[in-house]
Amino acid sequence: MPTKIAIVGLGKIARDQHVPSIRNNPDFELAATVSRNASLDGVDHYATLSQMLAARPDIGAVALCTPPQIRRRYAVEAIEAGRHVLLEKPPGATVAEVVSLKALAERHGVALFATWHSRYAQGVEPARQWLAGKTIESAQIVWREDVRRWHPGQDWIWSPGGMGVFDPGINALSILTHILPAPVHVTAATLEIPSNRQTPIAARIDFLSATSHPITADFDWRQEGPQTWDITVHTTAGTLHLSSGGAVLTIEGTQHLAAPDTEYDGIYAHFARLLATSESAVDLSPPHLVADAFMLADIRQVEPFHD
Ligand code: NAP
Repeated sequence: MPTKIAIVGLGKIARDQHVPSIRNNPDFELAATVSRNASLDGVDHYATLSQMLAARPDIGAVALCTPPQIRRRYAVEAIEAGRHVLLEKPPGATVAEVVSLKALAERHGVALFATWHSRYAQGVEPARQWLAGKTIESAQIVWREDVRRWHPGQDWIWSPGGMGVFDPGINALSILTHILPAPVHVTAATLEIPSNRQTPIAARIDFLSATSHPITADFDWRQEGPQTWDITVHTTAGTLHLSSGGAVLTIEGTQHLAAPDTEYDGIYAHFARLLATSESAVDLSPPHLVADAFMLADIRQVEPFHD
């Protein structure tokens, strides 16, 4: 029997990715949506999560696709009602709130899944396998995109907890922390914040690898034209390059993959495996790095940003 699942927050990512991937997966049935403003033809709709939880004990799981600032409140409500919970990235507005959610899920015997969609890009797992056991000499992340194209009118990303350019940047960090054989740590960060906003439009971060080799990240939301989502890792055994957000893998100049986007299909396949044992999967290494970048931040005010 498929698990009945409800989507909470029917915005861009819910419509673009969660709805089709749930419908593609025979382990799930899209049983309801919870939204203040929107609904889907042919799918039961509830205005609030409380109403849905009270009316539908048959719905065993929820996918929280809201902005991070309000995700914890919904997650607590769903977990306390005994439902499994899938969290869009980033899993919360702070690191500690997600730690406490994981403990709550364990107490209630339900699965909590903090998803990192970029880790399911086709080149990422082969990159992790190739890098295993290799010595990292340096790495560079360049994640530059046009905020007007990808986040039009989304005020929440410019508000505290919205993370600004770290909203896409954390995708790069989710790949980095997955593919490198050992943890990295932040040593310096420069954040550029528009004078009329509260979160950064650009960030430059320096890290050190476990063996004290340099890693840099360049996140920028002001790139028009072609978009750049690249990670390059130099090792003593050669250079690995992930481009297109992890979809294309090149090792020593030879391209290995240019596969279609199946990131969210990968997320739901993983969620189905977790539900089989009510197990949680909560890796907080990406938001740890973001939090540390904010802790060390040299903040520069830049020109105002208007949508
Ligand atoms: P969005 O288009 O703004 O949608 C978020 C939805 O959350 C809104 O449509 C709204 O749905 C609901 N919501 C409930 N309370 C809200 C509140 N107080 N303020 C704003 N929205 C509220 O955002 P999105 O792009 O889908 O992003 C949602 C999450 O997915 C973020 O964490 C983001 O990082 C992640 N994500 C986004 C993308 C992308 O390409 N956009 C890609 C990967 C991951 P209702 O009106 O239905 O209540």
